[in-house]
Amino acid sequence: MSEHVPAVDPRRGWAFDALVTLGGVVVAIIGFALWVSAPMTMHPQAVVAALLVVVMTQFPLVLPQRAGDAAIGFEASALVFMVLMTSTGEALSLWFVAQLITQLLDHRPPRVRLFNFGITNLSAGALAGVIVLGMSVRRDTIGELSVTLAACAAYFLVDLIVTGMSLAIEAGEPPFSGLRWTGVPLPLLCFVGIDTLGYLGAVLERHLAAWTLLLLLVPVGTILVAVRSINAVRTSHERLSQLFAAAATAPDWGDAAGTEARLLEEVSRVLRRTTARILERPAIGAEISAPLEVRGHPVRHVVAWRARATEKFDSDDVRTLETLVGIAAAAINRRRLADEMTHLARHDPLTGLANRTVFTDRLDHALELRRDAGPAKQVAILYCDLDGFKSVNDRRGHESGDLLLAIVAGRIQSCLRPGDTAARLGGDEFAVLLEQVTTGGAEQVAERMLDQIALPLKIDGSEVRVTASIGIAYVSDEQRAVDLMRHADTAMYRIKAAGKNGYELFHPIMQADSMSRLRLEDALRVAVQDKVFTVAYQPIVDLATGELSSFEALARWEHPELGVIAPDRFIPIAERLGLIGEIGLHMLEEAYVGGQALQSRLGRPLGLAVNVSPLQITDPKLVRWVQSCVARHPQIGLTLELTEMSRLGDDDATVRALDGLVAAGAVVAADDFGTGYSSISYLHRLPVTTVKIDRSFTKDLTVGRSLPVVKGVVAMARAMDLTVVAEGIEDGATSAELRDMGVRFGQGYYFSRPMSLDDALEWVAVRDSATVRRYAVAGA
Ligand code: C2E
Ligand code: CA
Ligand code: CA
Repeated sequence: MSEHVPAVDPRRGWAFDALVTLGGVVVAIIGFALWVSAPMTMHPQAVVAALLVVVMTQFPLVLPQRAGDAAIGFEASALVFMVLMTSTGEALSLWFVAQLITQLLDHRPPRVRLFNFGITNLSAGALAGVIVLGMSVRRDTIGELSVTLAACAAYFLVDLIVTGMSLAIEAGEPPFSGLRWTGVPLPLLCFVGIDTLGYLGAVLERHLAAWTLLLLLVPVGTILVAVRSINAVRTSHERLSQLFAAAATAPDWGDAAGTEARLLEEVSRVLRRTTARILERPAIGAEISAPLEVRGHPVRHVVAWRARATEKFDSDDVRTLETLVGIAAAAINRRRLADEMTHLARHDPLTGLANRTVFTDRLDHALELRRDAGPAKQVAILYCDLDGFKSVNDRRGHESGDLLLAIVAGRIQSCLRPGDTAARLGGDEFAVLLEQVTTGGAEQVAERMLDQIALPLKIDGSEVRVTASIGIAYVSDEQRAVDLMRHADTAMYRIKAAGKNGYELFHPIMQADSMSRLRLEDALRVAVQDKVFTVAYQPIVDLATGELSSFEALARWEHPELGVIAPDRFIPIAERLGLIGEIGLHMLEEAYVGGQALQSRLGRPLGLAVNVSPLQITDPKLVRWVQSCVARHPQIGLTLELTEMSRLGDDDATVRALDGLVAAGAVVAADDFGTGYSSISYLHRLPVTTVKIDRSFTKDLTVGRSLPVVKGVVAMARAMDLTVVAEGIEDGATSAELRDMGVRFGQGYYFSRPMSLDDALEWVAVRDSATVRRYAVAGA
């Protein structure tokens, strides 16, 4: 009655299985000997029962065990009938023949069939043994029934224990570890209950006409049908949970090759006893297949087949295969997109040089190395700005301008050694990082660059000349990348002011900066204490309808003597001084004051976006504030814009903190998206549901340079079900282009600059009457 499906290494435990088979053969021989030694009989009812054994074996109830499945059949009821109405010898012999037929019809590996043959005979031996021991009780009494029940239980337990031991040994575990007693009572009860049908048969056969036995076909048939449907439900349930697990883990299956390998494993695991390969062709014959569509690749097919033609696939299997392949294809495509975007995000598409992100990464790294290596290692950067580029661009058009930039980029590169880095920072600004340079070396490089750039070049058949101004800064002690960049920039402006086409070395007297920074730090401390920061509100609109969607709150600081200080300047200082948490909470509070006024003026729910620094998110105060704000103002939908996702880890603490903010009712947006390359790869692990395309990409969208990046972001956002907001929209053409690409929301000077609360209130009032319609028409 039992079969087992080996799930683990089938080589282990062969000795145990051989022992079981041997035991079964011994039982069969004993039964046979008993049969031939007594006057040999052959009851026709017993022969029918034996045939029934063959049929019932095909409908086992499958019980999941730790190392594989144990299947319990109800054919022992026929054995009970045979033992009670004939002799033990005849019953066991017929049983033995029926089992032989069953195993011959089966298609599992020979070793499994031998094992199954052994275990069914061992169990049958146990059953017959108990009935023989209880032979002294009188027929047709409750005593006889009890003995039968005990015999059935013996059959079940022998089967369960031996199967469990075999599976455990195969899985390399202690023999008794595979037994789960907690799950035993119910199946045991079922089994014993159903098998006593054999006893009922025996009673009918003793006292009533032979045809009454036919009545038993009804309960037996019902049981078999029920078992079949129970198994079907269980299989499909198991499949569903396997598919869910696959979908959940697929993003972590690795690169394309890793994901494909894992896909094949999953197919063989979920479909069972199946081999799967990725082929150039679809299924033929009894195989099934699903197309694997990976962007940029010809379509291939995941083809699955089974060794035995008798084991056919059904439509459920086909659907399961298609689902698994779909899950893997989505994971591969998403990853490819992320890789492409990482490349795009690290390189300037026009010149192929590194971009600002990569440049600052490399600079940071060089500074770190220098800190370890000591002052013997010199690091320098060169800031290079073309002279008169704007006029070329204006007179000859963007295309010529682009060509010029590409040629200049090549010339700059030709002046460098392999370890150096050249980058385009934007527009006609270039930067060079020299990681291994002697004193005076940077000046030499600058001279070479000036000579190269000044060489005449041909564009559209006519000759063009440009020159450049270069600022140089050597690293002095304990400098940060931003300081160094600012120094080189300062030096570059010096030479521009002094007549261009040359280079200048930074000298501290150029900037009384170290002084002013100290002053700024002191002023910032005071400002935080006095909470003098105000909020500017900038609208975010639905690009398709022109309708106001939300406001972003931006920090403003006006110092009585230093004047207006831009957040780009003071936020980094606040972060360094550990003041950002306080500023952030103040901003949240202020933004809600304004947000509430704006929302009630608007008269419908309004979004409010507040910027938070990565340093802030693990602050427990933030979660509490968010909770209370959200709870008090259900009409305001809060978004937390996380700037510089690249500074955010994907460690547990970060993920937990973000989850906490989401649970508190906020939406998390990735700000400046596209600039921090590392953010892309782990975005799927974080509860981020909105991305803001950085304004550096939006800026020259219509001249085409950043089009691929923005398209990539939109495609990826769609794949990951993210909302996209584009910032820095300065004209209608850009707005329309972004809308057509499928970007949902937009923000920028085209709609409005950041405003004081009063202006924002007026803006809402005016726009809600006339302007909405105008934008709606413009956007239609
Ligand atoms: P952000 O979060 O990317 O904010 C958008 C910036 O783009 C704002 O600069 C805004 O004035 C500017 N902007 C909006 N539309 C346009 C446009 O059409 N063209 C151009 N060129 N710029 C546009 P802002 O206010 O100077 O803020 C600069 C950055 O400072 C913000 O960038 C944000 O990273 C940070 N910041 C501002 N307020 C806060 C704050 O309360 N907390 C934190 N942690 N950071 C803040
Ligand atoms: Ca922002
Ligand atoms: Ca931004």
